[in-house]
Amino acid sequence: MHRLEIRNIMTELVIRFCTHSVNPANPSVLIIAAHPDDEVIGAGGRFKYIKKASFVHVTDGAPKNLSDAYSCGFKTRKGYAQARKKELHSALGLVNIRPEQCIEVGLVDQEASFDLVSLSNTLAGIIKSLRPEIVLTLAYEGGHPDHDASAFGAHAACRLLELEGIVPPLLVEYTSYFSSGAKMAVSEFLPHNTESISVVLSEEERLLKRRMVECFSTQQKILGVFPLEFEKFRPAPLYDFTMPPHAGRLFYENFEWGMTGERWRSLSQEALHSLGIEGMI
Ligand SMILES: [Zn+2]
Repeated sequence: MHRLEIRNIMTELVIRFCTHSVNPANPSVLIIAAHPDDEVIGAGGRFKYIKKASFVHVTDGAPKNLSDAYSCGFKTRKGYAQARKKELHSALGLVNIRPEQCIEVGLVDQEASFDLVSLSNTLAGIIKSLRPEIVLTLAYEGGHPDHDASAFGAHAACRLLELEGIVPPLLVEYTSYFSSGAKMAVSEFLPHNTESISVVLSEEERLLKRRMVECFSTQQKILGVFPLEFEKFRPAPLYDFTMPPHAGRLFYENFEWGMTGERWRSLSQEALHSLGIEGMI
């Protein structure tokens, strides 16, 4: 098939996902999030239109470093993780998504990059069992190492399925955050060769999304910077995970999270080798 034709078909599928009003065959969608709240921030306005939605959370949202937990009044990592799970279920409950529709990979917040091989295999297994038509995933953008690990896992899982002769689902990205000079860019994508589609939320959709966001009581300080007026999606571009997502300092390199871009790429290189998919993504 001609490259342009493939691109048109992919864009058409993304439009099908985004535009509920012209959605005769509501596709089944698997949403991959690194942390409880990523999914609502990036795509919460779409959830009530998806007839068959499943969610995978790569981490439990609670880092080993307890400073976030303490500042929210929790004494243990477990307590903080449980609170974040409860917030997620409350937010998704507003659009009638049940806890049984959420799968937990169970990695520790900030540590997903150390488990790229098992994460990729786990995601491949989940996709194989659920057979979604669309997988909604985070982008590779250096915002948070867990986000990049989730993007890696989603792409690697698709390549693993291809090796088994299984046609992978369409990977569609939702937005999060990344470094743009000295600022944090939110709800945007780094430039790539795939077109993004912006969905303007109606007044009713914005109110609903606001209520969903408000369920994440422990994250309110951070979540206020994300706009509620629109959501952006695009077919996931092909990434070279051994290269930096952009020039200059990555957003997560501003924090003491024990991860640099260089270290992340070395973990990614090792994982690609172990998975036998070097040069395929
Ligand atoms: Zn996140």
